[in-house]
Amino acid sequence: MRSTGWSLEIGRLFGIPIRVHLTFFVLVVWFGFASVSQGAGFVDGAARIILVFASVGLHELGHALAARRFGVGTIEIVLYPIGGVARLRGMPHGIAELVIAAAGPAVNLVLALVLFMGAVALGQTLPVTPEGWMAPGTSLMLWLSLANVMLFLFNLLPAFPMDGGRILRAFLTMVTDPVRGTRVAAALGQSFAILFGIFGIFISNLVLMIIAVFIFFGAGQEALISRRQAWLQGRQVRDAMITRFERLAPQESFGRAAQLLLRTTQDIFPVVDGWGRVGMVLTRDGILRGLQELGPDGALLEIEAPPAVTVGPDDDLGEIVSGAAGMPLGTLLVADETGVVGMVTPESLANLVAILSRMSETGP
Ligand SMILES: [Zn+2]
Repeated sequence: MRSTGWSLEIGRLFGIPIRVHLTFFVLVVWFGFASVSQGAGFVDGAARIILVFASVGLHELGHALAARRFGVGTIEIVLYPIGGVARLRGMPHGIAELVIAAAGPAVNLVLALVLFMGAVALGQTLPVTPEGWMAPGTSLMLWLSLANVMLFLFNLLPAFPMDGGRILRAFLTMVTDPVRGTRVAAALGQSFAILFGIFGIFISNLVLMIIAVFIFFGAGQEALISRRQAWLQGRQVRDAMITRFERLAPQESFGRAAQLLLRTTQDIFPVVDGWGRVGMVLTRDGILRGLQELGPDGALLEIEAPPAVTVGPDDDLGEIVSGAAGMPLGTLLVADETGVVGMVTPESLANLVAILSRMSETGP
């Protein structure tokens, strides 16, 4: 819930929750006042930024609906002030990735064409210079058409995490394997980001510099995820699980949980009943909240916590890590018919990847 704590659900489209980050409302007010200072009125400026973000929202919806055609669900669409994100439950490779990545910019292209033809049909005049297009008081239809052309071009930049980077990777994975394809696409993206950054410094444009940094790290992250997935391919959950850890019973107190939090290096505890069944996972935050609300004598079962996500020891680790299994990438509990037998945490996964990659350098 923490990741969505600063955003507001404004509705659902095709069953997908659409959330808007709260800082977006600051942006609307800011554009309103910027518009006033240019003599075009508060509503005009606020309406324009809202329409641009509606276009970004439709772009993300394009990704989400294309993903649905390939059986990939969408957790939510979040609109941030710097752009939108469709949080998909996994990303397939090859032609599916190509179609999903291309669907977003395609929406902007269609919007741009429809708005342009609408403006022409209404006999609106077309400003000749770019300044004319962007000037306050210009035809809203033409202005929004141009904004969609820019969204289309910007997203097609051949660099992660832009859609163009994914389209490029999809093409590369068709001629080589996913890891090498991603490595090449990421290297191209980073070279591109460096050029972009230098150009940004040269013309002293802060936005360009920020985008360059964003692309540079986005590309590196993508390459890392891909390498990690390749290492975990064909591995089982049991290979990455922690088997020595403390567990708590539902009737135990928050005082006892706090004691374990202090005395061990663990900050997440499975709450398991006498039959080995998992009730929930108690995090550090949950323990602190319980102490505050119920005191040290309060029983663990009295607090509301999200249900534990459990997997089997023989489940495919690569599939879970790639997100294809539709699970959140937090801590997973591993249970068999005898009850909880292990935990997989982001740290234990990172340890396994580090060990496997070192072992491959020195032979088996
Ligand atoms: Zn996109």
